[in-house]
Amino acid sequence: MSECSYQVRSYKVKHNYDVKWFLESYRWMLQRAINETWKNTTWKEKVTKRRRLIPIIPKSSEFKRNLRNYLLGGWDFCAHYADSAIKQAYSILKSWRRNYLNGRRAKTKPVVKKKFVRVKETLYSYKNGRIEISIRPFEEHLVFDVSNAWFWSRAKGEMGELILNEKFLTITFRFKRRVEERGVIVWDCNERSIDGFNPEIGWIRVDLRKLFHIHRVYELKRQRLQSKASKKPSLRRVLEKYSNRERNRVRDFIHKITTMISKTFKDYVHGFEDLNKEKMLNKSRARNRNIAKSNWKTIISLMGYKSRVQLLSPYNSTKRCSRCGMVNAPKGALYKCKNCGLKIDRQLNACINLYLQVRVFPISEAIRWACGGWGGFTLTGGEADAGSNEPMRGFEACEPPRTKYGSTLTHT
Ligand SMILES: [Zn+2]
Repeated sequence: MSECSYQVRSYKVKHNYDVKWFLESYRWMLQRAINETWKNTTWKEKVTKRRRLIPIIPKSSEFKRNLRNYLLGGWDFCAHYADSAIKQAYSILKSWRRNYLNGRRAKTKPVVKKKFVRVKETLYSYKNGRIEISIRPFEEHLVFDVSNAWFWSRAKGEMGELILNEKFLTITFRFKRRVEERGVIVWDCNERSIDGFNPEIGWIRVDLRKLFHIHRVYELKRQRLQSKASKKPSLRRVLEKYSNRERNRVRDFIHKITTMISKTFKDYVHGFEDLNKEKMLNKSRARNRNIAKSNWKTIISLMGYKSRVQLLSPYNSTKRCSRCGMVNAPKGALYKCKNCGLKIDRQLNACINLYLQVRVFPISEAIRWACGGWGGFTLTGGEADAGSNEPMRGFEACEPPRTKYGSTLTHT
């Protein structure tokens, strides 16, 4: 299967322009766009299980035209920025609406805090290594010489939107990528590992113990300080420093892991459990998974930069028998089916269920599956447990390439 998809890459360039006033004006215009749209939003009452109000954001081109004229009053920079502001206001309101309907936001108007401007293609020109952004028509320009920038050896595709903030100019490149899809690997999230599954590769286990270790180290550090911090305010800054460091180390580690996964399993689509749905559907698994969960979200979002990602519903994935479909109440690490007698590792069972959401097994695998499981088809790995239908594992333990934390990539 192959299909076209767009990929976006972005690169940052530091600048020394004083753009505070311009950014502040833009933020003000964006907030006005939100205010005006908010004022014209109508609320429709809908009674399902309980009474709730559904916001209807005005979308007519007449409304947008009037909004544009309204915004241009008191705006003395290029008029095209009003279009950017309207576009951005809509995307902010849409995302607020989605979260509000899911119960994650209150019925309050979004407020713009961050100062940045999205510069559309119509507002800048690029010639001979120089980017020229119009601020005021024919009068004021910002010129960035990027002819010697480091990213040219990596950038490809066409230059898209620019994002300007107080310190940096971010340049985006958009390029079409033909994806030859080789198959799907589904990933199950656990506290100390993520477990992938694909019928041709087998079971892939990626070790996350290092991540666990990083969290633990900083948890202890914070504990030691927290009791003192209430008396000594200066320690609060130290605490903050620790949380920043923890976050950076975690992100760094996850970057390495996701790069390793997407390079090792190039052209595969990676399926992940959609954790937003989990909250509603699968309460029993939510315990003790807060840290694992935040890591998981980072893993999914960083994987999304590097490979194609598909979100899957976690509904009953741990309870359903992957061979006959019966819903059991599994206890312990070994899953036993009361209907067909399947004995299998519980996490692997969940993985196979997730896999079945996106693909059916090739017929040869299906026959093997029906005749007693996966044993014996994996590439490498240790002995399968004789008492279960558990397969041998594909890669014994995948860790990122050697880093300063001393981990290694092991293919056995
Ligand atoms: Zn069964």
